[in-house]
Amino acid sequence: MTQNGPKRPTILMDGTPYELHPSKIVCLLRSYAAHAKELNNPVPERPRFFLKPPSSLLEDHGTVVLPDGVGPVHHEVELAVIIGKRGNRITETLAGDHILGYTVMLDLTARELQDEARSKGLPWTEAKGYDTFAPVGPLGATRARYDWRGRRVHLKVNGTLKQDGNTDMLLFTVEQMVSRISSVMTLEEGDIILTGTPAGVGPIQHGDRLEASVDGLGTLEVTVR
Ligand code: MG
Repeated sequence: MTQNGPKRPTILMDGTPYELHPSKIVCLLRSYAAHAKELNNPVPERPRFFLKPPSSLLEDHGTVVLPDGVGPVHHEVELAVIIGKRGNRITETLAGDHILGYTVMLDLTARELQDEARSKGLPWTEAKGYDTFAPVGPLGATRARYDWRGRRVHLKVNGTLKQDGNTDMLLFTVEQMVSRISSVMTLEEGDIILTGTPAGVGPIQHGDRLEASVDGLGTLEVTVR
C-alpha cells in the first residue's frame, strides 16, 4: 500500500464508530426495473450479482480519482447492507438475523469499459474495481433501528438532483438478496451488499461534488478529481 492507497473507512453505526472490513462487496445488478431499462437491459428473473474489491472503498468526504483513459465514469447511488453474522445457505426467513445494519454507498462504474466487457462476454471487474470507486458512509443504522423498506434513494451532482428512487421499487427484497448470494458464497461478518441503483445514472467530471442519500441514513458527500 502506498501512502495514498486505500484505507479502511469507519462509519458511525447508531452513533458508534464501526470500521468496515469486508472480505467482499457483493453488488446487485438491474435490481430496479427503470435502471435496467435505461441501459437497455432485461430485468433478471432472480437476484444477479458481481463483486467489487474492498480496496475500492472510500470514506465520506474523500476524493474520487477518475482513472485516465477509461472513458466516462457513472454515479450509482445505492442502499448498502452490512452483514453482522457469518453464514451460508441462509433462508429468507433467517436473513434478518445475519444483517448488522445499513449505510449509503456509491457504486462508481467506468461505463464504457463495462459496455465493452458486456459485448465481449468479459467480467466487469475492471469497470467496477478501481480504487475510490466505492464511497461509503458516513452514517449507518442497525437493523433493530432501521427498516429498509420505503426509503427514498437519491443523488445530487453539484446540487442538481440526478437520481431519485425508492427501495419499494426494488425487484427483490434484501432478504431474498442475502439468501440468494449466500447460496453461492459464505457471507462473512463485515461483508457488504450493494442493493443496486435506481434510474438516472450518468457521468461524473473533474471537480464535481456528489451527494448520495438514503432516507434515515444521511448523506454521503465526495468530490471528484
Ligand atoms: Mg450498481
